[in-house]
Amino acid sequence: MAKVEFSNVKKFEEFLYLCGKCGDCSLAVKIATSKSPLSHPCAVKNVLGYEAYDARGRIIIIKNLLNGKLEVNDEILEWAYTCTTCGACRETCLAVEGGIDTPSIMEALRRDLVSQGFRIEKHLSILENIKKLDNPYGEPKEERLSFLGNELSNIPEKAEIAYFIGCTSSYRTKEIALAAVKLLKQLGVEFTVLRDETCCGSILLRYGYVDEARSQAERLVKRFNEMGVKTVIFTCPGCYRTFKKDYPEILGRELGFETLHLVEFLDNYLKDKNVAFEARKSEVVTYHDPCHLGRHLNVYEAPRNIIRLVNGLTLVEMETIKNFAHCCGAGGGVKSTFPDLALKVAKDRISEALETGAKILLSACPFCKLNLKQAANNGIRILDVAELLAETYVGEVVEVAPKVVEVVEVTPGMKLMDYLNEHVEIFKGLRVGCKFNYEIVDWKTQEPKLKFYVTVLESGERPKIKISKGVADNPDVTIIISEPAAEKLVECKERSEYAELFGNFFNEPTDEEYIDVILHRSTKELMKMGYGEFAREAGLI
Ligand code: SF4
Ligand code: SF4
Repeated sequence: MAKVEFSNVKKFEEFLYLCGKCGDCSLAVKIATSKSPLSHPCAVKNVLGYEAYDARGRIIIIKNLLNGKLEVNDEILEWAYTCTTCGACRETCLAVEGGIDTPSIMEALRRDLVSQGFRIEKHLSILENIKKLDNPYGEPKEERLSFLGNELSNIPEKAEIAYFIGCTSSYRTKEIALAAVKLLKQLGVEFTVLRDETCCGSILLRYGYVDEARSQAERLVKRFNEMGVKTVIFTCPGCYRTFKKDYPEILGRELGFETLHLVEFLDNYLKDKNVAFEARKSEVVTYHDPCHLGRHLNVYEAPRNIIRLVNGLTLVEMETIKNFAHCCGAGGGVKSTFPDLALKVAKDRISEALETGAKILLSACPFCKLNLKQAANNGIRILDVAELLAETYVGEVVEVAPKVVEVVEVTPGMKLMDYLNEHVEIFKGLRVGCKFNYEIVDWKTQEPKLKFYVTVLESGERPKIKISKGVADNPDVTIIISEPAAEKLVECKERSEYAELFGNFFNEPTDEEYIDVILHRSTKELMKMGYGEFAREAGLI
């Protein structure tokens, strides 16, 4: 076997030796945005299970390639393309400021492999497609913009703002591009599209084909410069990252125009406009952070800001979000190289989305949408933020009544609702279907202040519950809590502390701190429902 030169990887050599093999890139403790005490950042390792797939394993393997203890073979070649370059491992790595940059190290390795003739068969046909047809999908280049139909004639050939559609939305998720075009038109934004748009070369860079990507970059930047474009808007974070980060690096110069994702553009554009968006019905939605938009370009708030503009929607966050969000599994060339792996990773992300109770999973990436949709199998609606806004757009509100700022007092009952939502472990041991009525009362007058009920939807260590305002018919237990007792309960840090205080207020109530428990079923039946576990802990039985 010929000696392999790892000239690109060697640029990162000092970082390979700074890795302390702590394993935080695979299993980390206490993550600020995660509700769980433990986090498993690497979505690929979570599916494949072996150390070789997380950052620590990858660094060990690369060190052994550098020192000659390992040789490049087919297995190593395939392994090099199993990393989605999502960057989640960087976020939990404390070895250096910003974390060891495993995605860049993996891309450097791929560049070294490609430059020395180690190539994956599948990649060669994609390379050929881009060369001949200007897209990786092997679709006819003359059909790239055909999805726009007559709409294309309404888009000017020149404008200061250009919308770069990208290959995926031109051929696979046309609905996103159509929604973006419709939305920009609805909002009165003057924009153009490149009639001879080609692949941006993102996939080439992710595979390690830098020279080929450079020629794509040169062509596209030249075209935008010739057209006098000042801002290019993207709906694909892959294209966006490639233009914003990779092009200046591989071209060795600035682009001469600004680049923005559509969500950033809209977040700014809509700030001083009275545009209304109205959902057809009230719905809970959740948002998946695309890795190339979030971790790679630090765009977390803009998509959330614009989702919140839509009246009628409630945004509920997933277990892992923003810089700690799990990857959907499609990036870094994984979808085209190992479609089954990409799908398995996406299924994990779908499970996280379903746990929120959301009916719509939003994202801002055609590639995420494609992969998540295949994995969801109709279990949850997957929508791009561009589609959401286009379908909920009502119009500009001409006369706006002065906004009345309603000051809502956060009552002890509301605090308890929030607390129970956070501390679902209180309902551990209960069977699915148990219903608890809560009545929060004024301690002096006994007058009810708030009534709500908890329904156990899924059992487990952290059961899934639903909290609804009102009173449940035929509850298993009704709990009447004085407001001062509710105020104290929400200060408890753990279930045991909560149970002890709950029991104290029940067994030895002071005047104002009392709890009344009304059991609606026979004690035996309640034991069977799992209520006994909490009641025993609280000293009620
Ligand atoms: S890459 Fe960072 S987090 Fe992972 S083992 Fe090395 S030092 Fe620890
Ligand atoms: S970049 Fe993502 S897939 Fe690759 S090792 Fe890090 S966490 Fe795992």
